[in-house]
Amino acid sequence: MNGSPSRRAIPAVEKILQALAPTSLPRPLVVEVVRQELRRIRAAASVPDSPALVRQINHELALLQRSRLQPLINGSGIILHTNFGRAPLGAAAVRALTEIGSAYNNLEYDLGSGSRGPRAAYLERSLALLSGAESATVVNNCAAALVLIVRHFTRKKTEVIISRGELVQIGGGFRIGEIVEASGARLREVGATNKTTLEDYLRAIGPETALILRVHQSNFFMSGFAHAPPNDEIAKLARGRRTPFVVDLGSGALVATEKFGLAEHEPTPAETLKRGADLVCFSGDKLCGGPQAGIIAGKSRLVAALKRAPLFRALRCDKLIFAALEATVDAHLRKDWAEIPALDLLQTPVAALRTRAEALVRQLAPLNLRIVETKAEIGGGTLPRSVLRSIALEISSENFSPNEIATRLRQATPVVIGYIVKGRFRLDLRTIFPRQDALLAQALRACLTNSSP
Ligand SMILES: *Cc1c(COP(=O)(O)O)cnc(C)c1O
Repeated sequence: MNGSPSRRAIPAVEKILQALAPTSLPRPLVVEVVRQELRRIRAAASVPDSPALVRQINHELALLQRSRLQPLINGSGIILHTNFGRAPLGAAAVRALTEIGSAYNNLEYDLGSGSRGPRAAYLERSLALLSGAESATVVNNCAAALVLIVRHFTRKKTEVIISRGELVQIGGGFRIGEIVEASGARLREVGATNKTTLEDYLRAIGPETALILRVHQSNFFMSGFAHAPPNDEIAKLARGRRTPFVVDLGSGALVATEKFGLAEHEPTPAETLKRGADLVCFSGDKLCGGPQAGIIAGKSRLVAALKRAPLFRALRCDKLIFAALEATVDAHLRKDWAEIPALDLLQTPVAALRTRAEALVRQLAPLNLRIVETKAEIGGGTLPRSVLRSIALEISSENFSPNEIATRLRQATPVVIGYIVKGRFRLDLRTIFPRQDALLAQALRACLTNSSP
């Protein structure tokens, strides 16, 4: 700060633009940042000197640049991290994005008849097969699927029956109960937090019942004095009262998770439908391992009705989502896990992680790295009890505190994210792709050997 020079001392936009550090941001955005900063100092009591002003604007531009979507190296050990974009896509899905995105395509065109055709016909058919369903369709995300379902079934009757043990909050402020109410339905809560019986459902069901909704607890679990009736019993009750029974599965594991060596069993769409649910919905970007999407599977009649609902049009997906999801679903049908990175990372043997850690430690010899055994998580609100044995690099430095290491690595290119446990900075290798190891080594070397901040 430079005391309070007169208003005239505020430099012109053009002069500042010439003094700024080179940036790849589009010029109109740069100009806007400069103008905004000038407006701010005009309103302030004192005007900084020119170099300070330029430094400040350079800083703002760097922050703006860093707020752009960019890839990062995820050393958190959390495979499906909502903050980091959940499931990374496989190579075939990425190829499909490029091919479909960069050319015209048959999104709504029937190549047989040469006239308008249905959207996502292939995808709906393969998703139905994978889900053991008569029929399936896709919307924006699982929350959208839930809104569509609740809105559709509560047109005439208004009540949605749900167990108090299933009024889940998923991630940042997303509450199942609020979603249902925002869809215009009335919640009819049954049972207690830890115990709901079939009689509770039986007592609640009545002329105003539009739907029985079951929500997979996803991100938490109950143990001890807890009970909920199995799906087939609820399904039988619902069928007797001609009431649709819908299960929100959330993560939607299409493969039985024990097959990947996990301790917990995540209910699959196929087994849930087999036990009598009329419809299930689940996310495309959790254990399904594809792009953000909400998949609805079940009875043909109900899926068809949902597709005719006016709201469906507002929730439909873009061609790019279809392209990436088609490739992901193909990989599921072929059990080609290498094409579904989320499932591939889940299965990496600890020995392979250790070998990579040892190579990194050798490569970065002068740095203070230690190999530690850790536990990685699935994340994304799925399988809260499943921990995966994993390997992390623990990094310490004479020059930097763990917090400073974390900050410096967040500012690296590419960005590297780790975590601090018991005052030590760690990078879990389970969620770092082997192809990123060289870049990671580079970033570590640059951040930890250069002591100037
Ligand atoms: C994650 C989750 C959702 C929300 O899914 P999105 O695809 O993120 O909209 C809904 N229900 C359950 C049970 C979930 O676990």
